[in-house]
Amino acid sequence: MSISVSNISKLYGDQKALNDISFEVKEGEIVGFLGPNGAGKSTMMKILTTYLDPSEGSAMVNNFDIHSQSIKVQRSIGYLPEHNPLYLEMYVREYLTFNARIYKISKSRIEEVIKLTGLTPEANKKIDQLSKGYRQRVGLACALLHDPQVLILDEPTTGLDPNQLVEIRELIKSIGTAKTVFLSTHIMQEVEAMCDRVIIINKGKIVADKNLNEISDETQQIIEVEFDYRIEEAFLSKLSNASEVKNIHGFSYQITFDTKKDMRPTVFDFAHDNKLKILQLSRKNKNLESIFRELTNP
Ligand code: ADP
Ligand code: MG
Repeated sequence: MSISVSNISKLYGDQKALNDISFEVKEGEIVGFLGPNGAGKSTMMKILTTYLDPSEGSAMVNNFDIHSQSIKVQRSIGYLPEHNPLYLEMYVREYLTFNARIYKISKSRIEEVIKLTGLTPEANKKIDQLSKGYRQRVGLACALLHDPQVLILDEPTTGLDPNQLVEIRELIKSIGTAKTVFLSTHIMQEVEAMCDRVIIINKGKIVADKNLNEISDETQQIIEVEFDYRIEEAFLSKLSNASEVKNIHGFSYQITFDTKKDMRPTVFDFAHDNKLKILQLSRKNKNLESIFRELTNP
């Protein structure tokens, strides 16, 4: 196991930020740690990176104990903290060299990391001059310098514009092919875009821990269908297993079915039998966003 967390709780004064958390992350997995603000994500990450001690419980990172082998834990992880603290006055290559010295890392590795994180064109610029997306790359480069097996990234895409977002996600995904990645986010699409698995946390407790393909499997199915003229919702409700019919716009309808069986052929046959013309038909799984809302709404 890359990460193994057993019954961790964390108290700040009398506030319980983490309440009996247990989970495991396997080698090579990209796991999203999803939760609303204040859920306890950063606290969990600070414990895993040995910046904070838990009030109760234990954890292993790369088979090292966070309490008794904290130096070994630190050596085996790359950590991008929440607000990515950087020295803005330093130049990119200079900053990475400065960090590399701390770990006694070779010059060639610095160049390798610059290349890997797409920083080559910016390497001679002051960090101050970089866009937020490139600053995140510098943070990632720094986390990767000592070639750690496990990456812990605390909200790596928060504050990025849509283009930067896509670029950083792709970068994390490509880095993730060779490493274990545990990343936090409060954005559900993020998890869908990058992760193999999601652990959802709310008010310090884990409320879901699932593989992404399980999520799309187990849930209801929504079919969106567009006809060439208006149909009564009540008429469409006659479709077998249809639990809800909504007119979403124009002649388009969203039909929810309580079954795993692909209902597209049924809808098609129903239209044909009733001489209705279908202009468009598509199937949607109940998405992570609605699951997240159900699990984390008070
Ligand atoms: P997240 O990263 O999911 O937004 P945090 O782990 O930062 O959540 O915070 C979880 C809870 O613990 C929040 O209610 C937060 O206010 C509280 N908290 C975090 N850090 C401290 C601290 N150093 N002292 C007191 N309370 C804290
Ligand atoms: Mg946080």
